[in-house]
Amino acid sequence: MYRTTDGYTWTKAQGTKKGGFRCRGVIEPASKTSDGIEPYDVIVVGAGYAGLRAARDLATSNRSVLLLEARDRIGGRTYTVEGDDDGFLYEMGGTYVTHHFGYVLAELQRYKMERDLIVSHESGHANDYYTLNVEGAPRRNLSHEEAAKLTTRAWDLFVDIDGAGCRKVCPLPQSQLDNIMIPREEVEAIDKRSCLDRINEIKHLLTAEEVGVLSTVIMLVTGGKLENSSLWECIRSHALLTHSSDNFAELWTTYKLREGQSAFARRIFEEAAEFGLEWAFNTPVVSIRDDPGKTRGRVQVTTANNEVFSAHRVICTIPLNILKTIEFNPPLSAVRQEAVDLGHINFMTKIHAVVEGDGLASWNGVRSPGYIAQGYGDGVTSKGFSHIVGFGGDERENFTPEKEPEKVVAAFEAMHPMKVEKTVFHNWCTDPWANGGPAWWAPEYMSKYQDELQKRHGAIFFASGDWAHTWRASIDGALEQGSLCAIDALRELHQMDKANNRPYRL
Ligand SMILES: Cc1cc2nc3c(=O)[nH]c(=O)nc-3n(C[C@H](O)[C@H](O)[C@H](O)COP(=O)(O)OP(=O)(O)OC[C@H]3O[C@@H](n4cnc5c(N)ncnc54)[C@H](O)[C@@H]3O)c2cc1C
Repeated sequence: MYRTTDGYTWTKAQGTKKGGFRCRGVIEPASKTSDGIEPYDVIVVGAGYAGLRAARDLATSNRSVLLLEARDRIGGRTYTVEGDDDGFLYEMGGTYVTHHFGYVLAELQRYKMERDLIVSHESGHANDYYTLNVEGAPRRNLSHEEAAKLTTRAWDLFVDIDGAGCRKVCPLPQSQLDNIMIPREEVEAIDKRSCLDRINEIKHLLTAEEVGVLSTVIMLVTGGKLENSSLWECIRSHALLTHSSDNFAELWTTYKLREGQSAFARRIFEEAAEFGLEWAFNTPVVSIRDDPGKTRGRVQVTTANNEVFSAHRVICTIPLNILKTIEFNPPLSAVRQEAVDLGHINFMTKIHAVVEGDGLASWNGVRSPGYIAQGYGDGVTSKGFSHIVGFGGDERENFTPEKEPEKVVAAFEAMHPMKVEKTVFHNWCTDPWANGGPAWWAPEYMSKYQDELQKRHGAIFFASGDWAHTWRASIDGALEQGSLCAIDALRELHQMDKANNRPYRL
């Protein structure tokens, strides 16, 4: 298995080390292109799930496709590394899957992986309880059931802005702005509100513990600050939980892939490669030029090494927060440019800690404020140590995990007594190819920009989990977007073939 330069690990003995992890997402050879193919039918920029899905769908429809990726691996914000010392699979970004993710389920079935799941949480180890440690309330341990009840009551009040558990305002999460059940203006009015507005409105109905837990959960879900996180995004998420917080853990934090996300992503890549996909890793794109005057090779894609590739169509999957680094010619519309300049507000922290003993494998808890505000046990390593996943909100002002390992260790140890042996993580906020976690939008962002972000720009299509219709900010949303843009490109290529009397290809 090849090694990626992505990610960080820390141990007391070795300090912080960048990259060097075994990762199934690394593809060898790093480049496979042949002469004489250009213009490609389609160039796909970015090899995350949106790009992989688009590239696979186009290649299996016998289209010539070039996949360009800045990193040395596939998977983008979702990848798995394998510990050299313990063989443990660490999910560095996107992790959890559920059968409620329609696109994910279809892909898992396609590769016969739908039963290949493992459960994140193990009960029965020594510290089988939840530690609640929030401002304004004394620290205490409670059962997981009590903690779920407390969190659920607060969350349900928070999202219940219509007296119907948000069924009236968000009946159809796959079409939030324009659907048959609620006028767009009503949704736009709610979309103006922040999470902080809503907490202030209901906090007199909550205990100090409930306010603390709710604020922490929201901060972790949004990856932002309460004041700049859109309330609507929480409502949409609740609607996707089939309007019931009973499904919160089952849908969001329970099922992982046994072989890891990178093995799944690799299946998609390998199928595309079998059908003639070409690719180049370590190849950042710097500009995309659409020249409608040309009939052949109408779009030109230039890389940081000054190579120029051409295609009839381009599918750009570059994440929202770094789209502004790409030069588009002609320039993007004023509205899209504004959206791109603003970006999203999710700057979350996710860090794995391997800690002495197996007792904490059943533990869960929150501590707020804290750089790491939630931790939960997620399995036991082959050495008998507990694996804890820690999450934090936007802590960019307070610490940079790769530079300040002592702060990371202290943050874990402040949640519950533990001895941290090793940490493993990816800092998505300092990552030049992401500049943030999965997209969470600010108030009014959806109303103003969602439609525009999903639009094409001449012969360039834009696909990203960051502006998906349904499961925005998830693996499913990325697959949705890749699929939809591939369909649009295929239709147009088919029309071009017809116009040029070329035979039907499939
Ligand atoms: C910490 C974390 C936890 C998450 N947890 C979950 C979860 O449990 N479940 C879930 O469903 N989702 C989760 N997500 C969200 C999910 O990972 C993302 O929504 C999804 O991976 C986005 O896929 P994408 O293809 O749209 O974007 P990306 O995966 O970001 O892919 C875009 C690709 O473009 C490449 N690129 C960028 N710039 C350039 C350039 N100039 N030239 C060439 N290539 C470029 C990038 O390197 C990247 O490979 C999580 C995300 C994070 C960060």
